[in-house]
Amino acid sequence: MDVFGFAQFPYISGALKYVEALDFKLDELFFDRAFTQVRERGKERVISTIGDGIKRQVCTDRTSAEKELLSYPVARILVSCINDGYLLKRYALAEAKSSYDLLKKLSDVELKDFAEEFDIVSNIDEREFVIHFTDYIRHASAIHEHEWKLINRKMDHGWVHLSKEKFSRIIEEAIRKKIESGMPLDVPPHICTALEEELKEIREALGARKSEFSIGEFNEIMPGSFPPCMAHALSGAQSGVNLSHSMRFALTSFLLNIGMDVEGIIGLFRVSPDFDEERTRYQVMHIHGATGTVYKSPSCDTMVTYGNCVGKEPLCERISHPLGYYRKKAWILSKNSPPKEAIDKTYIQKE
Ligand code: SF4
Repeated sequence: MDVFGFAQFPYISGALKYVEALDFKLDELFFDRAFTQVRERGKERVISTIGDGIKRQVCTDRTSAEKELLSYPVARILVSCINDGYLLKRYALAEAKSSYDLLKKLSDVELKDFAEEFDIVSNIDEREFVIHFTDYIRHASAIHEHEWKLINRKMDHGWVHLSKEKFSRIIEEAIRKKIESGMPLDVPPHICTALEEELKEIREALGARKSEFSIGEFNEIMPGSFPPCMAHALSGAQSGVNLSHSMRFALTSFLLNIGMDVEGIIGLFRVSPDFDEERTRYQVMHIHGATGTVYKSPSCDTMVTYGNCVGKEPLCERISHPLGYYRKKAWILSKNSPPKEAIDKTYIQKE
């Protein structure tokens, strides 16, 4: 792969070696005016993470490719200086998601070589990729959609067959994990200080995003209006199913957003096989805003990414957020039925 490839996939080991071989001292990246555009692009990379996601730049020459490549370590350092769990996860996810379409454009052989960067050994068999089931589980376990369950995949003597799209999705997941696990970086304070201007803009964008998280518009809980994904997770939690971490976060934040109280939610998780009251209370309080941040439940896109979009139905096509579904369904129901008494917010606790 050359510098144009490294600009597109800046987290691979070849890209790191390329940067190390460039003729400049690391500090210059953060202090020197010659790198202003690189810092600007690094900041833009992080801010777009908070918004619609990272758009890859088209690099027409070596200089623009090197700038794009260098903006990646700058972005990682900016995210590390802020050291916010939400931003960190969102950043790793955005970098991985923006790679997915590029991965699908690689030739089969290039994609196979690329996967080895993440210790995924594969074979190509009549336009399908074949990987060992242990590699499949390692990455697909974070994808909870039904079709990703191992039982629903074609498997032959321990080897799982995947289309190019599915194989690329597995690699996307590997990229996300690699980026997330390597952060936050231990950044010397003087570098964070030098980047204060960029950090200020990112903090403002992050603060604005988080302020949208506070919903406060729902006055009563309407169980008949729950979107299918939340209804499914709720019945799972109530019957003692151990929800994935991402689904637990989605359900908790959704219930808080629609007005359920902390004690009610803790009671709901009490039947989970791994229930630990202290830990659950800490997590729910954290999502509720004990640290000053009230989290909004994840959008449908994020739910799909984590395999938590289950039981999609026609109304889902008209919304982009489970809260949007809840709002719309409640409106439809209220138009079609006489006014009802508000339902006690503890209704979903198991007896
Ligand atoms: S489309 Fe959205 S609301 Fe509907 S099931 Fe999926 S995540 Fe839930």
